[in-house]
Amino acid sequence: MAWFKKTRKPMASSTAEKPSRVPEGLWVKCPGCTQLIYKKELEQNLNVCPKCAHHFRINAAERLKALLDGGTYTEHFPNLVSTDPLQFTDTKPYRDRLQKTIADTGLKDAVIVATGRIEGADVVVAAMEYSFIGGSMGVVVGEKITRAIEIAIDRRLPAIVISCSGGARMMEGALSLMQMAKVSAALARLDRARLPFISVLTDPTTGGVTASFAMLGDLNIAEPKALIGFAGPRVIEQTIRQKLPEGFQRSEFLVEHGMLDLVIDRREMKAAIARALRFMGAMPVAEADAVPVAVTADA
Ligand SMILES: [Zn+2]
Repeated sequence: MAWFKKTRKPMASSTAEKPSRVPEGLWVKCPGCTQLIYKKELEQNLNVCPKCAHHFRINAAERLKALLDGGTYTEHFPNLVSTDPLQFTDTKPYRDRLQKTIADTGLKDAVIVATGRIEGADVVVAAMEYSFIGGSMGVVVGEKITRAIEIAIDRRLPAIVISCSGGARMMEGALSLMQMAKVSAALARLDRARLPFISVLTDPTTGGVTASFAMLGDLNIAEPKALIGFAGPRVIEQTIRQKLPEGFQRSEFLVEHGMLDLVIDRREMKAAIARALRFMGAMPVAEADAVPVAVTADA
């Protein structure tokens, strides 16, 4: 038996526990125009502000759903996971960081590879996930994107990569840098097989990802006002000791200066990619089935 026992309940504070009549997270404040937007309305609008067209960051699965017919796709290689080859530790061991991120995001690494259809045409899409250690490219990301390109070559499909990344993954050192060469080499094979590659650059696409596959598309398309660059503006300013121009490293600036082909609103992205694929010769599956002679040529 305990010596002391609380016989009375502690006094409830007057401020706490009054249920709010406005549920948490129902409204979102837009960083573009500072207006309040109803969250459901925002989601229906592909997370683009209906008032000022500010593009909110979305995750890889949402992107695939928005892009592929019926929001459905088949995921490939979901279980590839980094083995922490350098046994790296910064503020905490990389192994622990990986475990925590895997638990938080439900993904094993920073990219989802999927096959599906865009307006009826079969495609392979790799979408990068920023919430997984900044969308950084380690050995798993490099391997999965390479395998995605290999699926494209085997099945004679167009490849699409949606980048959203801070660059190479520091915790995997030189091994992550090697992925730049590996993915680029796979893209060269795709090119020799005369198959299209469309690169979609979203906010942000920087570092080793920009310096390799994100800029190698037959068509390089960016979302509006996305940060796209190699080094950050602060590093460049310090290095060249000059003030950088307004809008430097944003999509629109890069199109003006010939670094990108197009800036396309997320709400029109699917239609634009479908149009480009048709132009490059991709055929809706139903039509291809109707003409079996054309299919056998590559078998
Ligand atoms: Zn807005």
